[in-house]
Amino acid sequence: MSDILVVNSGSSSLKYQLIEMATERTLASGLIERIGEGAGRAVHTIPWDEVPSVDRADAPSTTERELPIPDHVAAFRVMLDAFEAHGPSLAEHRPVAVGHRVVHGGKRFFEPTVVTELVKINIADLAELAPLHNPANLQGIEAAEHVFPDVPHVVVFDTAFHQTLPPAAYSYAIDADVAEQYRVRRYGFHGTSHKYVSEQAALLVGRPLGELRQLVLHLGNGASITAIDGGRSVETSMGMTPLEGLVMGTRSGDIDPAVLVHLHRRAGYDFDALDTLLNKRSGLLGLAGTNDVRDVLESRAAGDPAATLAFDVYVHRLKAYVGAYFAQLGGVDVISFTAGVGENAAPVRAAALAGLERLGIELDASRNEVRSREARVISTDASEVVVLVVPTNEELEIARQTLEVVEA
Ligand code: ADP
Repeated sequence: MSDILVVNSGSSSLKYQLIEMATERTLASGLIERIGEGAGRAVHTIPWDEVPSVDRADAPSTTERELPIPDHVAAFRVMLDAFEAHGPSLAEHRPVAVGHRVVHGGKRFFEPTVVTELVKINIADLAELAPLHNPANLQGIEAAEHVFPDVPHVVVFDTAFHQTLPPAAYSYAIDADVAEQYRVRRYGFHGTSHKYVSEQAALLVGRPLGELRQLVLHLGNGASITAIDGGRSVETSMGMTPLEGLVMGTRSGDIDPAVLVHLHRRAGYDFDALDTLLNKRSGLLGLAGTNDVRDVLESRAAGDPAATLAFDVYVHRLKAYVGAYFAQLGGVDVISFTAGVGENAAPVRAAALAGLERLGIELDASRNEVRSREARVISTDASEVVVLVVPTNEELEIARQTLEVVEA
């Protein structure tokens, strides 16, 4: 039996999922937070249908512990304890490999890769481009190697799917020598999700991936849109970092770069202050005081002007990208919405695609309102472009790619 442990390591958190590959079921998942911060917190969840029926009466499917977790190795030990105490047994479900999410693969990594010393050096070197993410990802890899020394570890990069972008899409129009020297170009992110969703979408519409022109709108706390031609990413809205493009929970997305110069000269903002402003205090949070689309929708429904503007700016930008990518692809067969906002926020989906009948896009209002965790069609039967909601599953995609590498 092949089980894969998927790990997503942040600077103070560790998310994990154990997936049984024969059935692609999640056997357990967990979140360990506040690593290195005094009072840590660990949540271990066994999906309800995995709890043996004999135990159900006294087996909570989620268990929670508070304890100090000094570092990532300690976090893995807490994870092992949780498996030991609440199951499933790792002796029975010994992972054949560990799959790690890594945010930035630069232009070096274009496919899932078995971890070696050289690979780790390269991930560390790419920290220059992703200072918040790559060092934390690497810490997780090293801790996992310590705890699982005799299984292969595989890294799956958020950027890898976008290695097929043509130079016209990935080059910034700046001094070419400066760009080359400092690796300034567009890389794109959320690739694992865009890949997974576009493949699911092809299955759902029952047509070969190779002949479809698709848009995938990954709208979570971070948000990006990708144009996919025959299964290959040809344009995506995030750039050298995950700041470019759409309006997000706390990130501005596109902005005139001269605004930074202005704020520096006029208001004395230094680079850290600008970084914080654009990454943490902008987007929906900056406009409406909350980064959660549920709250924005609620306040907007109550007539709050700031929430109304935040919603309008969000969908205005989204629609502009849909139009631009429609033009880049010369037509679109399938549009898929995914991630927290894309899967749940019907008003965002409706507003982003409103008035696009001339492009062959026609949403079915009642299908769009259906709440479900299943992939589904939300366009009318007459709509030339099929519009879908497809729940993303980045962990499963990482597990699939990990298994492919270790079986190869
Ligand atoms: P992340 O990018 O952190 O992985 P998710 O894909 O889980 O985020 O998306 C989180 C966001 O999804 C939340 O901040 C919230 O704005 C939005 N969201 C979640 N559920 C709903 C809902 N029922 N209606 C509208 N928005 C939702």
